[in-house]
Amino acid sequence: MITLALSKGRIFDETRPLLAAAGIAPLEDPETSRKLIIGTSNPDLRIVVVRASDVPTYVQYGAADLGVAGKDVLMEHGGAGLYQPVDLRIARCRLCVAVPAGFDYANAVRRGARLRVATKYVQTAREHFAEKGVHVDVIKLYGSMELAPLSGLADVIVDLVSSGGTLKANNLVEVEEIVPISSRLIVNQSAMKLKRAALMPIIDRIQAAVQA
Ligand code: ATP
Ligand code: MG
Repeated sequence: MITLALSKGRIFDETRPLLAAAGIAPLEDPETSRKLIIGTSNPDLRIVVVRASDVPTYVQYGAADLGVAGKDVLMEHGGAGLYQPVDLRIARCRLCVAVPAGFDYANAVRRGARLRVATKYVQTAREHFAEKGVHVDVIKLYGSMELAPLSGLADVIVDLVSSGGTLKANNLVEVEEIVPISSRLIVNQSAMKLKRAALMPIIDRIQAAVQA
């Protein structure tokens, strides 16, 4: 049995057409089903439905052989025990630094000011500012990052941006792109050896679907 870890919402919606092109159809819709383990048209392949940020953990420990995770989540996880053979080019956005309109970020950086940074991406944010030589206090949040500078919790945020609509609605501006983001197919490293014969055709078909 091969197990594929997916999260509901965007990742599931955008992975579904790739799976379809690879001849894999889920037997239930995770948005409406309460089941966390879903069979597929391939009797040897099942899907486990987990939180987006838990996908690398399931694959790292081998509870799932395969998974789909955003590069944002993979950078934060660190990628131990995982191969990342295919960029699926889905769920594309960018990880950015944003500040309240009127905050002179470039000047604050030049002056060597200490910045309070609110983010879900603590590791990635620390590394980014360390590389720039900017001193930061990183404040971990789990959502609604845009509120942090508006309420005085932080000076800047590090968050995902796609259209920029949410930033704009909250009077924030993007001042720096940290990294472009898309989702990757990830594979447990030992499964890649032990289940290679079963995994390779699935990986190859998904890769072909991405290129088509
Ligand atoms: P949860 O809601 O369980 O806390 P989440 O908010 O991380 O998880 P999603 O919002 O579905 O879940 O995001 C899943 C992945 O989709 C993210 O890790 C990121 O890679 C990508 N993503 C998030 N926001 C966007 C966006 N606005 N545009 C494109 N891709 C995005
Ligand atoms: Mg979200």
